Amino acid sequence: PPTSFTPPTILLFLSSTITKARFTLGLGANSFPLIQPFMLAELPLILKGWLCTVVAVGALFMFVPEIGELSHLLSQGDIKRLGQKAGKVLLLVAVRSVAQFWQQALLWEAALNITYKLRGFVYQHVLNRDMEYFEGEGGAAAGDIAYRLTAEAEDTGDTVHALLHTLVPSFLQLVAMAARMITLSPVLSFATISVVPVMSIVIAMLGEKLRELARKGQASVAGISAYLNEVLPSMFVVKAHAAEAFEQRRFERLALADCHAHLGKRRMKALIPEVITAVYAATSIILFGVGTWVISQGSFNGAGMVSFVTSLVLLIEPIQAMGKAYNELKQGEPAIERLFELTTFSPKVLEKQGTVTLKTVAGDVELCDVSFRYKGSVSWVLKDISLRVHAGQTVALVGPSGGGKTTLAKLLLRLYDPVQGSIKIDGHDIRECSLKSLRQQVAIVPQETTLFTGTVAENIAYGDMDSEIDMMEIERAARLSNSEEFILKLPNGFHTNLGDRASSLSGGQRQRLAIARAIYQKASILILDEATSALDNNSEKLVREALEHLMVGHTVFVIAHRLETVQQADRIILLDGGKLLEEGTHLSLIAKGGQYASLYSTYESNEQGSLLQR
Ligand code: ADP
Ligand code: MG
Repeated sequence: PPTSFTPPTILLFLSSTITKARFTLGLGANSFPLIQPFMLAELPLILKGWLCTVVAVGALFMFVPEIGELSHLLSQGDIKRLGQKAGKVLLLVAVRSVAQFWQQALLWEAALNITYKLRGFVYQHVLNRDMEYFEGEGGAAAGDIAYRLTAEAEDTGDTVHALLHTLVPSFLQLVAMAARMITLSPVLSFATISVVPVMSIVIAMLGEKLRELARKGQASVAGISAYLNEVLPSMFVVKAHAAEAFEQRRFERLALADCHAHLGKRRMKALIPEVITAVYAATSIILFGVGTWVISQGSFNGAGMVSFVTSLVLLIEPIQAMGKAYNELKQGEPAIERLFELTTFSPKVLEKQGTVTLKTVAGDVELCDVSFRYKGSVSWVLKDISLRVHAGQTVALVGPSGGGKTTLAKLLLRLYDPVQGSIKIDGHDIRECSLKSLRQQVAIVPQETTLFTGTVAENIAYGDMDSEIDMMEIERAARLSNSEEFILKLPNGFHTNLGDRASSLSGGQRQRLAIARAIYQKASILILDEATSALDNNSEKLVREALEHLMVGHTVFVIAHRLETVQQADRIILLDGGKLLEEGTHLSLIAKGGQYASLYSTYESNEQGSLLQR
């Protein structure tokens, strides 16, 4: 059964409540200092909200005796005075409602502003983290960061609101109503105060149980969803193994677990109002029993009783709100800490003081004894690479997969710093240059093309936020990249949204858009990372033509499979196992009869074999 409140469970609950109370006092000790500056920034809103609380609670304080008198007049049948009283009561209720509305609106506004600013603050830190963080073991990092910036940032907002609400509105109403009760009847207050904790505990206990069951329900739904996300895209394997019945059984097991989890929750939900009613009834009996006795002593009357019960109900309200706030805080504290965890790292690839801004560069590139290995790895990916490339030259990087070609490109963009050695552009060590200007001057057409939601034009001008998007430049880039023709065939030409269409573009079309993007950037140094590797012959020809346009007037590093591309290069560099093995023109390397020559002869003998690698 979902509920069993045997004495041991109650004891257990009581002890855990005490622990929690202790925890509550310390709650926010870790997270509060983190969000404090953000809260201070919203202080004007918060204070306005709390001012509304004072008005609302004040109205409530005045309302309590009035409602007692109203009931008294009702029993006397004095219509005229009854009307006046009723008017006053209504006015107080209206004042309270309006003030309470504004209190809520203002405090939520403050909490949501904090969430908004916090998200921006954290995301800025995320964006500035090293490439290493995104590429390393952290393939899962994206999902984790997304979760923190969505759900956990939202939890943070709820937590901040709960905190703001507990600090003043709940507390103030609690104190005001307790004061009212004591002024009305100290004896009755004592009698009630002994009951209220029991009542609150029973209600809190049920609430806790419900939350636990709700969590189970959520977990079981998440289980179904995770299962479907895994299996549906892998239908090929399922069918190939004739595993339909097998999967059916796995799915039904998950669905049954979900059914049980929800049944528990539903039972609890049905039970709670009944228990609460019973608890209220018991409380009322005690209250009215003691009340009748107090009235019989002559120090109290029916009107006082009505007021007293009203203030009691209004006292329970903030207690319940505080219980809810406690849970928000408990959930929110780790969320806040996890959110701020994203801001505690400082990037290693840093801009130094007094950086050089690379405005226009000729494109002279020099690598001096560059060695590099990835974090956590013992083997060098690049070892003692020295290389001088003059402005306007085209260098082909060839070699087996895993030889370090893409890594070299990353170093040129300063996505990583070399472990040893240095890289210079036009004589400036790139560690001395501003990152923005460096990455403006070095453009890359990566191995994989990424297109973002947005129009074709916006994708070509990606990242350009200084100027209005320059359509002339975009069209020029499209023309030079051989993509204008297919772009104009899209439903809205350059203004076609790629969000849902990107997947309908062919590999070659996507790659040509990436080339257009690089052209638009007007860099002087270009890196083409296997830009023709995965293409069919026809698109390969179009892409290669586009690349030929690019090579004019730029320093180009072309990482290539295709022999045609390689042969055109001024120099060919053979990278294997992180070492620069051979270097020279196509002809000189053939004449040398080394590794390149043997790769070339394999290629020659293989009609289809466009791969220079392997
Ligand atoms: P290529 O482009 O020549 O195929 P890469 O530069 O991509 O080679 O990779 C060189 C080596 O570095 C490979 O052994 C690869 O496994 C390793 N490597 C690449 N990226 C990372 C990374 N982010 N973390 C650790 N090792 C990496
Ligand atoms: Mg590569």
